[in-house]
Amino acid sequence: MEDIAVLYARFQQCTAVSTDSRQDQAGTLFVALNGPSFRGRDFAAQALAKGARYAVVDDAELVASAPDRYSYAPDPLLALQQLAHYHRRQLAIPVIGITGSNGKTTTKELVHAVLSRRYAVQYTRGNLNNHIGVPLTLLSIRGGEHELAIVEMGANHQGEIELLSRLAEPTHGLITNIGKAHLEGFGGVEGIAKGKGELLQFLAATGGSAFVNTADTRLPALAAPVANRITYPGPTDDYPAELLAAAPDVVLRLFDGTVVEAQITGGYNFLNLAAAAAVGAHFGVPTPDIAAALAGYAPTNNRSQLVRTGRNEVILDAYNANPSSMAVALASFAARPATAEKVVILGDMFELGTESEAEHRTLGELLTAQQFGTVLLCGPDMRHAAQHPGFHHFATKAEAAQWLAAHPLTGKQILIKGSRGMGLETLLPLV
Ligand code: ATP
Ligand code: MG
Repeated sequence: MEDIAVLYARFQQCTAVSTDSRQDQAGTLFVALNGPSFRGRDFAAQALAKGARYAVVDDAELVASAPDRYSYAPDPLLALQQLAHYHRRQLAIPVIGITGSNGKTTTKELVHAVLSRRYAVQYTRGNLNNHIGVPLTLLSIRGGEHELAIVEMGANHQGEIELLSRLAEPTHGLITNIGKAHLEGFGGVEGIAKGKGELLQFLAATGGSAFVNTADTRLPALAAPVANRITYPGPTDDYPAELLAAAPDVVLRLFDGTVVEAQITGGYNFLNLAAAAAVGAHFGVPTPDIAAALAGYAPTNNRSQLVRTGRNEVILDAYNANPSSMAVALASFAARPATAEKVVILGDMFELGTESEAEHRTLGELLTAQQFGTVLLCGPDMRHAAQHPGFHHFATKAEAAQWLAAHPLTGKQILIKGSRGMGLETLLPLV
């Protein structure tokens, strides 16, 4: 591989980094990543023709043909990561790493809303939180411009957060919670705690600071090795917060008594809001600005979104699902003041491995206890949750769609939730 400093000099002449030749390439450094069914190098010439300034490829012949346009890297992904880390080391700004089982993106968006009241902030766009997304986020930080960065870190197996921490070198970290997400790859909840704890280990070793959610049973102990801890939301914590109402939208009282009426529904979002308030206060954002930012945030991304369809009131939470987020979503839907019959439409929870059947069965018990008016379960794994004779089970989403077309729902309160792969938001036009 070329010296990373040489590649960095080229990067500095570029407007951005691209890994997808279909996107706008004007002035970019195109990194030709290989996929399961394609070689990135096959798209490099196209990227250059579309305006990319340089391309990083794993093809020495191609580089020899035009060394002024191509850089050689035997492993372009590794080069991307090394470049990102090199860039990170040039930046003398706080970097906040956010991980956890649930609520990373929501918390990241809320933290961004709060901090950008006072600082020029760069942050993870969308859900670009993996071994490719984190380097791209880091490379989008501009030294002279951004004063702070927020990096969402996702993981579905051990060691991943360690890698992302080494790349991003966070000065601050926040673990939203430890729950049952990606159980399969992590090997149980203890494995998840260990995996997410890799961020805390990094902070402990480097003298960083951790924001600690003391409402989570595992996090205070996990964060103990970090010397600088900023705690929330308990009454004796650094930044207490109190949940005043969970529905229709969350209302919370901040540490100084300010009451915030948020535009997100679901009691679990209280902790995401409280986390953002703690981060903002720690970085000196005035409380009125924190309150305004939290109150101003409205999700538009299928996460805990309240949609009035004209016929029904729908809580669209179809972005993702796992046993923890299902349980809190159902509890908060059940706690919602009933104005009509409640209907839940749930899709399979993925990535549960050998626990899948048991977790779906437990979900079925939860549903039986909660006594919703109508329960529609969709997907092959959901048959394990369909033990109650009154529940409707559909092996596929298409069958659920047929049922909804034949039995139109009107005047109901509806919760829609399932794993990303189920894409249950496509049922929205039918309700
Ligand atoms: P991903 O792993 O896909 O990146 P994420 O951790 O970024 O997910 P979000 O996208 O913010 O999480 O939220 C996804 C879903 O998780 C929400 O729609 C909601 O159902 C649930 N959720 C959000 N916050 C919490 C929380 N604090 N506790 C439990 N569940 C939550
Ligand atoms: Mg996310």
